[in-house]
Amino acid sequence: MLHTLQTYVDRVSQGAADGSVFSNISTSGSMILMILIAVVGYIVQARLQSVFSKYSEVSSPGGMTGAELAEKMLRDNGIDNVRVTHVKGHLTDHFDPRTLTVNLSDSVYSSRSVAAAAVACHECGHAVQHATGYAPLTLRSQLVPIVSFSSQIATWVILAGIALLAATDNAILCWIGIGLVAMSALFSIVTLPVEYNASERALAWLSSSGTLRGEQLDSARTALRWAARTYLVAALSAIATILYYISIISSRRD
Ligand SMILES: [Zn+2]
Repeated sequence: MLHTLQTYVDRVSQGAADGSVFSNISTSGSMILMILIAVVGYIVQARLQSVFSKYSEVSSPGGMTGAELAEKMLRDNGIDNVRVTHVKGHLTDHFDPRTLTVNLSDSVYSSRSVAAAAVACHECGHAVQHATGYAPLTLRSQLVPIVSFSSQIATWVILAGIALLAATDNAILCWIGIGLVAMSALFSIVTLPVEYNASERALAWLSSSGTLRGEQLDSARTALRWAARTYLVAALSAIATILYYISIISSRRD
């Protein structure tokens, strides 16, 4: 992915040096890329919804609710300081490291389905990551305040940067703006190992504890795979946004 990014950046800079024609192609190219990713994102989201509603109908063989399974997985991992609580909404499940709570949504907390088991244990996977000091999760948490600041000011810095570029031919402020946008992309990229690893931990426990077997375990794996793909699309989208900004600035410099 980084290689592709580098190649793209090189091509964009080359385009800027050669003249505006190539830069314009790069701008439209990165716009097409953004649209393509948005379409894929829509498909993945729709597929995730349908996979979850399908596996919400398949009952988990042990007959335990999402909340009960979460409690059990936490206990089996030697975690006794994390509470399992109920939150409103659909697919709003999350682990909160500040309050040490595994928050399970309406369709997971009291559901005895395979989908509920997968989601509940995935969130507990995050609790285990937190308890064991899993490095990507720590890095992700450290990025939260930085990204919330950088994403707030990025658009303004880029707009001011474009004005400065037009007036003085100096692109420094534009590149600072892109650097700020890049923090959001970095956050999306760091999120990937965190999400994939939480699902791995969930599936490992669901299997080793004998909670799910055979076809049910495969169903849980499929559901978690589709959930992970939404994070993959988000990361690709963040990278495409940066490429788009780079192409705009490179073409404006001519
Ligand atoms: Zn997660």
